[in-house]
Amino acid sequence: MKAIVVGAGLAGSSAAFTLARAGFQVKIIESTGQIGGRASTVSKNGYLIDTGCSATTSAYTSYMALAHEAGVGDLIVPASPCVGIVRGNKVFEIDTRHMVRDGLFGGFLSLGAKLGLIRLVRDVAVAKSKGMLDFSDMSKAAPIDNESVADYAQREFSAEINDHFFDPLVRPMLLANSHLVSKVEFFSLLANYLDAEMSSMRGGQQSFAQLLAKDVAIELNSPVSAVRRDAEGVAVSWSGPAGDITERADACVVACHLDNAVDICAEYRSLLQPLRDSMRYTRAISVAIGSPVRVPGQSFVVFLPYCEEPHMATLFLEHNKCDDRAPAGHSLFTAYLEAEASEASWGKSDDDIVAQALDYLCRLYPMLRGQVDMAHVKRWEKALPLMKVGGYSEVARLHASIDPAARIQFAGDYLSGAGQNTAVDYGVKAAKNLIAHHRVHQRS
Ligand SMILES: Cc1cc2nc3c(=O)[nH]c(=O)nc-3n(C[C@H](O)[C@H](O)[C@H](O)COP(=O)(O)OP(=O)(O)OC[C@H]3O[C@@H](n4cnc5c(N)ncnc54)[C@H](O)[C@@H]3O)c2cc1C
Repeated sequence: MKAIVVGAGLAGSSAAFTLARAGFQVKIIESTGQIGGRASTVSKNGYLIDTGCSATTSAYTSYMALAHEAGVGDLIVPASPCVGIVRGNKVFEIDTRHMVRDGLFGGFLSLGAKLGLIRLVRDVAVAKSKGMLDFSDMSKAAPIDNESVADYAQREFSAEINDHFFDPLVRPMLLANSHLVSKVEFFSLLANYLDAEMSSMRGGQQSFAQLLAKDVAIELNSPVSAVRRDAEGVAVSWSGPAGDITERADACVVACHLDNAVDICAEYRSLLQPLRDSMRYTRAISVAIGSPVRVPGQSFVVFLPYCEEPHMATLFLEHNKCDDRAPAGHSLFTAYLEAEASEASWGKSDDDIVAQALDYLCRLYPMLRGQVDMAHVKRWEKALPLMKVGGYSEVARLHASIDPAARIQFAGDYLSGAGQNTAVDYGVKAAKNLIAHHRVHQRS
């Protein structure tokens, strides 16, 4: 059996690895010049910069399981257990192993606001007990996907709670402010990740996709223009360095962004289009800044409330994430601009974007002034699938309509809560559907 995988991101490389392990002859067709998609790591001046996805968690069960199956589980290393949250240009550090102690006695929320959070715990517990907060299938949350995080906060809590607690926690998830993000994403974060251990892959986040795809044939710089079914299987057309090619295969995994999938799979357009209409890919800009000065503190991520810093959604201190990201004694920061700020800054020069990020960093860490030895800017045209409020009912409808026995399967992070785990999970699921179909096919 021969399978073609469209897209070499985490979804595509996970599908390709799983199919190859099951004995399929596999070829990946990728439009860009590299493997990894939004898992991208750049090496510069001794720093290792994750320009796209940055961290994993112990709750990423599919990602962890595949890493172990591929023999690279020991490359996943825990990040510092500390996180920071900013209030008044000061970083309050919380040790996540003592979340209740540090959270309750830390000075970033008033006592009244802290007591109000009991209602949040109740709402999340009720949704979880009804099975609605399954990260591997967030379509189960469709019945409560009815308001944004900001609207929920305003209805049930206070502006203070939204500004200093909900918003800074939500912004790193989809690099978007709380009025753009559905309440169910926030509930899922609290239900699935609050007590999880954060981690990253030694060598950079991109290396996982590269390791998964290392024994598989791959055509780079080859955008696929059509995937069609025919009597014997599938026909995949692309335009690559060797010209326009159409290759036949028994099966195909389409593992690109949803809008590309809609464009290239004409027969599936009516099935995929309603979900495409219910979400949009945000733009994001990431700015990495390296310094020979090691700043104080153990936090590997700093949560930034909009009211403190409207442009940056979050800040990673990469040297506290994994020791191979910065030379010894140095600091490496990655600032991720929020979706609307990324739109507004899209046309600015890299120098201006770095200067703006550095200006804010120096307010938090004044010792960085005049102490920068590396900067790198990455613009993501299609960063994260941002579901409209109510969009998870379309995810549910799509899940119900996809035939697991079909020769064309879909994979990608738009099929549940966005992130590396969903990409891996649905890549493996798409491959397993083809493997199961192949076995049925052989018996008949
Ligand atoms: C700035 C940023 C920060 C993030 N931070 C985190 C994080 O900390 N934790 C986390 O879990 N997730 C994070 N994510 C999300 C995570 O990176 C993605 O969810 C995941 O990598 C998506 O994988 P994928 O395979 O579904 O898609 P992609 O990685 O986008 O792969 C799709 C591939 O398909 C290719 N392609 C598209 N069209 C075609 C075509 N026509 N023909 C051939 N190939 C095509 C693309 O070039 C791409 O390589 C972040 C994302 C960004 C952008």
